[in-house]
Amino acid sequence: MKRSFRFRFYPTDAQAAELSRTFGCVRKVYNLALEARTEAWQQRQERVSYNATSAMLTAWKKTEELAYLREVSSVPLQQTLRHLQGAFTNFFAKHASYPRFKSRKKSRASAEYTSSAFRLRDGRLTLAKMAEPLEIVWSRPLPEGSTPTTVTVSQDSAGRWFVSLLCDDQPVPMPETAEAVGIDAGISSLLSLSRPIEGLTDRQGKIRNPRHERMDHERLAKAQRGLARKAKGSKNREKARLKVGRAHARIADRRRDLLHKVTTALVRENQTLVIEDLAVRNLLRNRTLARAIADASWSELRSMLEYKARWYGRELVVIDRWFPSSKLCSNCGTLQGRMPLNVRAWTCGCGATHDRDVNAAINILAAGLAVAACGDGVRPQRSTPGGQSSMKQEVVPPQRTRAAAQPRG
Ligand SMILES: [Zn+2]
Repeated sequence: MKRSFRFRFYPTDAQAAELSRTFGCVRKVYNLALEARTEAWQQRQERVSYNATSAMLTAWKKTEELAYLREVSSVPLQQTLRHLQGAFTNFFAKHASYPRFKSRKKSRASAEYTSSAFRLRDGRLTLAKMAEPLEIVWSRPLPEGSTPTTVTVSQDSAGRWFVSLLCDDQPVPMPETAEAVGIDAGISSLLSLSRPIEGLTDRQGKIRNPRHERMDHERLAKAQRGLARKAKGSKNREKARLKVGRAHARIADRRRDLLHKVTTALVRENQTLVIEDLAVRNLLRNRTLARAIADASWSELRSMLEYKARWYGRELVVIDRWFPSSKLCSNCGTLQGRMPLNVRAWTCGCGATHDRDVNAAINILAAGLAVAACGDGVRPQRSTPGGQSSMKQEVVPPQRTRAAAQPRG
C-alpha cells in the first residue's frame, strides 16, 4: 500500500531560489502543453498524447526564449506533463472538468521528483541540481525498510515549505474488537455517535467543535478585510496576502489534526463503522449551516475513515443518503412527519426523548448493520461528496489478515 508522508523543511536561500525557479518552469511547461492540447482539440478535434507533449518539451528547450527550462531538473517538467495527461484522461472519461491553467498566485506551487532525481541516504534527502541535502523536520519516522518512490516539494500560500514522500507501507493491524458505531455529521457539534466513547465524546456521544475555531475564523476575516483595502500591486498587498494565506493554513492544519485524531480513535475503537452518504449540497442552502459543514469537513473525514478502515482491517459501511435517519425514532421505529433543522431534541409518541443527532447516529448504525449482514443493498455511486472522480465501492470490505484475527503476543 502506498502512503505519503509529509514534512516541513527549511531551504537555504540557494535551495529556495532553485525550487522557486523549478516551480516557475513546471508551471510554464504545464501551461504551454495545455495550450497546445487545447488548440489541437478545439481546432482539429485531435487528442495529443503524453509522448507528443514530451517531444514538444524537448523542442521548447532548444528555443532561445525557453532556454531557461534547461537550467532546472528535467524530471519535475516531465512529471507535470504526466499530471496533465492524467487530467485529460479524467476529462475524457467525464470524471473531471477541463484542465485549467496554473496561476502563480492561485495554484499551489509544487514539483515532483522521481527516484532518478533525488537521493535519500541516512535521513538526508538531496534533490537533483542541489549540492546540499534539505533541512527536513522529521516529525515521524518513515516506515522501516521502505524507500520513497516519489518526492514532492511544495510551498503553500503562507510561504511554508513541505516535502512529501510516497512510500510503500504495510500498516500494523489493530487488535480486533466487536464494537460498531454509527456516525452522524453534527450540526451543532462536529460529530454525533451512536454511543459515547470515553476520551473522545461527551456523555451523550457528541464530539464538540473545537473552541479555537471561532477565533481562527475571526482572524481570517480580519486578514481578508485588510487585503481588500490594499492597493493592487503594492508591497503591502503582498504582505496582506501572506497574512490571509497563513490564516487559511492555520485553520486547515488544525482541522486536519483534529480529524486525524478523531478518525484514528473511531477506527481503533470499532470493528464496523457506519456513515451516511450525506447530501451536503442540500444542507448548504442554509448559510449558517454551510459554515458548520465546511468546518466539519465531512468529505475529508469520510476519506480518512475509508483509508484507515482499509489499513487496519475495519469495515466502513456507507448507507443511502435518503435514509430518514433524523425522523425515525430509534426506540419504536415510528417515522416523524417533519423535522426542521432548528429542532435539536424531540419526544416521540412512545415517550422516548431524543437528541436529534444522537438518534440519527443510532439509526445509521442499525441501517448499516442490516446492510453489512445482507452483504449488499447499497448502491454504488459514481461520485462522492468530496468530488473525487474515481469510482468507489460503497461498502469497503474488511481486509483482515491472519495476524489481525489472532490475538497478538
Ligand atoms: Zn418512538
